[in-house]
Amino acid sequence: MTDRVSEMARRIAELEAALAESRQEVESLRVELDWFRRLMSFHREGVAVHQDGVVVEANAALAEMLGLPVSELIGRSGLDFVSPAPQASMPAQPSPEEDVLFETLLRRADGTAFPVEISGQWMEWQGRRFRVATVRDISARKQIEERYRMLAENARDVIWMLDLEGRFTYVSPSVERLRGYTPEEVIGQSMDQALTPDSLKLVQERLGRIVQREAAGIRLDSEVRMELEQPCKDGSTVWTEVVGSVIHDDQGRFVGILGATRDITERREMREALARERNLLRTLIDHLPNSVYLKDLEGHFLLNNAESLRRLGLKTQEETLGKTTADFYPEQAAAWRAIEEQVTGSGKPVVTEERVLLRSGEECWVQSSYLPLFDSEGRVTGMLGINQDITVRKLAEQRNLELALERERADMLARFIGDASHDLKTPLTSMLVSLAILAREPEPELQRQHLASIKAQVSHLQRLLDDLLSLVRLDRSLELSPRRYDLNLVVRDVLNEWGGRLAAWGHTLALDLVEPDVWLNYDYQQMYRALAALVDNAIVYTPPGGTITLQTRREGAEALIRVRDTGAGIAPEHQDRVFDRFYRVDPARTSGPGGLGLGLPIARKIVEAHGGRISLESVPGQGSTFTIHLPLNAEQAQPPSAQSVSPSDRGESDLDV
Ligand code: ADP
Repeated sequence: MTDRVSEMARRIAELEAALAESRQEVESLRVELDWFRRLMSFHREGVAVHQDGVVVEANAALAEMLGLPVSELIGRSGLDFVSPAPQASMPAQPSPEEDVLFETLLRRADGTAFPVEISGQWMEWQGRRFRVATVRDISARKQIEERYRMLAENARDVIWMLDLEGRFTYVSPSVERLRGYTPEEVIGQSMDQALTPDSLKLVQERLGRIVQREAAGIRLDSEVRMELEQPCKDGSTVWTEVVGSVIHDDQGRFVGILGATRDITERREMREALARERNLLRTLIDHLPNSVYLKDLEGHFLLNNAESLRRLGLKTQEETLGKTTADFYPEQAAAWRAIEEQVTGSGKPVVTEERVLLRSGEECWVQSSYLPLFDSEGRVTGMLGINQDITVRKLAEQRNLELALERERADMLARFIGDASHDLKTPLTSMLVSLAILAREPEPELQRQHLASIKAQVSHLQRLLDDLLSLVRLDRSLELSPRRYDLNLVVRDVLNEWGGRLAAWGHTLALDLVEPDVWLNYDYQQMYRALAALVDNAIVYTPPGGTITLQTRREGAEALIRVRDTGAGIAPEHQDRVFDRFYRVDPARTSGPGGLGLGLPIARKIVEAHGGRISLESVPGQGSTFTIHLPLNAEQAQPPSAQSVSPSDRGESDLDV
């Protein structure tokens, strides 16, 4: 009995020990499981542990993905969560030894599907086999892939991929629009079939270099850009721009080329048209007789046509490289550069005409047009110069001018001959008449009147002839005999002589002489003649009853004699010309005052011979002022130590007045 009891007690003790051990084992299992769950819960990807196809454990991430609590996952078949359609994509019978990776669609509790990537691994635990599946939501990646696919499919450019053998592994649908072939026809084709022989050669050379470099470990980090000609299905060809870059795998191995192709037929045609136009323009400007050149803002030559090069004494465009005008025309460079800067600064063209000695040795007249050049935003980028040789035109202009002058001279001479014969004939005729009457006139008083009339005509004739002779002599040579006189002397003397005539015309005289008198050297006879001409004009071109003012002044370094009248005045267009020989404002004048139009030219010649000049201010209808300007030097203005020169010392002129 005791044996049985002790046996029992021993058994109980054994059992208790076993129980304690298994409790301990359970406890450690529980701890292990807890750790495992915690680990799984930290895992971002979904994790499910299957045993015989049934989920025995799952983590929170997977539960969240599927929209169910963990407890509802456990005990169910993994296939329950796979979306029906692509179940086939799951490996039907995963090999017991293999770890597999596949993509499929899972279904959420709400029925929506989402793409996942699942990797499965076998695991042994406590003598049992489990399969651990890691589930990754790849919706975002798929979306991006889809977007790229859409882009490739819809791009105008053709997107393609070539493998290492040069075969197309992908071509986007737009290839059909470009070349007429469908993507299906192209995929698998060699690139040889997609290029014309010339273009293929180009590509092969380029590819060869890339492959060599890749083999040497030198990676191509920029894209390759080429213009190629490609055959189309209809037998034509199309010009394309191809951009390609090398694709490497994870290990950095060169696995193929990804590229895009764009139709550039239009661009090429435009470029060709532009090139043709440029050639045409170039030929045109090279055949222009004008020198044409382009310069940058700093004045460097950019382009010169053939004539421009010739004038610079150059043969080729290269010789102008980096050069400016200063390299060829150092003397004129600064002036020309100033014009260029004015043009580029203001954006306005400038045209000049000048006489230039060319580097080629020719001397010519050049019309230079400086034109600003603008970019598309209206900024000045440089300038265009056009130089035209206008020597022929200038010579013609000069010849025309000379001709016109000659014609004018001839006209004047003809007018003069007409006027002179008239002016000389009139007094002769009236003298003949007086003489004829005189021959038969018994009355002494009437005889005296006729004699007086003849005398007046003779002196008029004498004055006319004097004027003519004077001018001829003045033209030959004018020898002055200057001596020192006071300025007012000649004025007073002219007035003494012409006072009667002045009074006869009913004019009033106003005398305004400088005090103290100014002393200077002049030829008395000649100065008398010049002043007399001005006074005579003032008298005769002022209607009776006018005022004639004679004024002397010293102004600065000049002695002045002014003759002012209140007569008809001279219109501006005649003011310069009245000093021309034989010029008369009223050439049609048949009689009346004045002479042959020689008074003023004679006066001017005399004054100029003294180093002076005659100026004229006149307002038609109000009167005229003629001023004789005589230069003074310091010692001239002082009175001489001797007394004033007496009238008998007033010198003899080479002119007989
Ligand atoms: P003329 O012998 O005709 O006077 P001049 O050479 O002295 O020749 O003058 C030329 C022309 O200038 C005159 O014909 C006249 O028309 C004009 N002229 C000269 N002096 C005067 C003046 N004081 N007032 C108006 N006209 C004048």
